[in-house]
Amino acid sequence: MPTVPEAASYVVIGAGVHGLSTAMHLAQRLRARGTTVGAGGTRIVVLDKTGVGAGASGIACGVVRNNYYQPAMRELMAHSVSVWERDAEAYSYHPVGYMQISPEVMHVQVNSIYEQQRAIGYESVFIEGAHESLDYMKTLFSDWHARNITSVLHEKRGGYANNMAAMQGLAKKAKALGVEVVEGVSVTGFRSGNGSTAVTAVDTSAGRIACDQVIVGVGPWINSIWNLLGLPKSISVKGRDGTLHDNVRMWHYMALQEGTLGVDPDFQKTNDGRMPPVIHVDTDAPLHSDRDGKLITDRLWGLYYKPDFHFNGVQGGAMPAVVEPDADDVRVDPYGPKSPEFVVTDNFADMWTSALAFCQQRFEGQHGLYRQEPSGGIGCFTPDSFPVFDRFRDNVYVIADSNHGFKMIGVGELVAGELVGDASALLTPFRFSRYAEGRLHPVSNSPFPWS
Ligand SMILES: Cc1cc2nc3c(=O)[nH]c(=O)nc-3n(C[C@H](O)[C@H](O)[C@H](O)COP(=O)(O)OP(=O)(O)OC[C@H]3O[C@@H](n4cnc5c(N)ncnc54)[C@H](O)[C@@H]3O)c2cc1C
Repeated sequence: MPTVPEAASYVVIGAGVHGLSTAMHLAQRLRARGTTVGAGGTRIVVLDKTGVGAGASGIACGVVRNNYYQPAMRELMAHSVSVWERDAEAYSYHPVGYMQISPEVMHVQVNSIYEQQRAIGYESVFIEGAHESLDYMKTLFSDWHARNITSVLHEKRGGYANNMAAMQGLAKKAKALGVEVVEGVSVTGFRSGNGSTAVTAVDTSAGRIACDQVIVGVGPWINSIWNLLGLPKSISVKGRDGTLHDNVRMWHYMALQEGTLGVDPDFQKTNDGRMPPVIHVDTDAPLHSDRDGKLITDRLWGLYYKPDFHFNGVQGGAMPAVVEPDADDVRVDPYGPKSPEFVVTDNFADMWTSALAFCQQRFEGQHGLYRQEPSGGIGCFTPDSFPVFDRFRDNVYVIADSNHGFKMIGVGELVAGELVGDASALLTPFRFSRYAEGRLHPVSNSPFPWS
């Protein structure tokens, strides 16, 4: 049976990317000030009801990019990419770059992303025009033939990291700095006293822990912890036009659809034999099935993919599926591929393998190699599908990334700074008050809710 200490200065709930990164960076900050971290000093205890990487971070595709239409997201991602680069080996990070390949309807917005990347010194190349885009793609892949493409944004930084290896790397670094990671312990409630809402102790399946501060990094389980904290199930959101929308549910779920084509990862190398950038294509060209030629969609659609030795194939995904039930009725456990409800269906396999064939001739007729195994998982989204990083009940810091977050390894560093009193300008646009105040992030034309 795992045991927990009677008291800790910081209790971190969740051993995913945010909990582990926050704990590790916090330990770094405290030690830099001469504070002893660990038993006998300032205790930072990470609790996970299952184990390191048991949530979304352990099944994520692992794509790391800057490409966001929202300036605040882009600046935050630029910081996170620099954190990945700081210790690529420990985080199993592959800096192969990232490409956003788009139709005309997204041209102007992607151009503005490029311009702002230049402004913040984030290296990228922007190609405009149908012929120019095709030529650029053919210099990478001679078999490129995606249609209705009029721009290519090639980010030279970013790439992907191996999900579990990255989490184990983070956990190892955190433990080496004195962080205690306790697996198999579930948080079941919060205590407060003396007429204050501040949390004085956390109840767990292994007993109560008195604490000074709580950090919540529970990914798809945020709805249940939010309820335990007594935070509002519904909120008012002031729209961009100034209209107030009442009774908007705080959380809703979507199902991420991902899978693997069981080819040798080398199959997807570039013309000059290198590992390619992560490819993300959106297009409004009709998509037909590579199996039987039937029309799959004639609306804007998108996919992403990369060769990945960890998944042992070409791995990627497409747009998420809506999860209809109210957040309180969604069964998050068992999570990910173990879920009886939220794994991808044959429709996804047909769509995604056809989309691969749409992009590159080498994938035509390969749909039979799609790996028929449960994959995908659900994410919990905020009303505007952007993160909330904020303090609640005086001493509870909630990191709710609205499913953007494997790539956001740097958020933990910024949160650690805020925990010791250094306010972060990069986190400020993600406060909860933005909903009531109408300071919402701009919305892009992308078919994905996270672009
Ligand atoms: C299929 C899929 C693919 C994705 N691909 C990408 C990608 O390519 N790039 C990207 O940037 N993002 C991606 N995401 C999103 C990203 O994975 C998540 O946003 C991110 O991992 C969330 O991290 P987290 O630390 O908040 O939560 P998690 O990694 O989910 O960790 C939360 C942890 O909290 C624990 N926990 C929950 N409740 C309790 C409790 N009561 N007590 C104790 N412990 C508890 C869980 O066991 C879990 O280990 C993907 C998501 C999915 C589902």
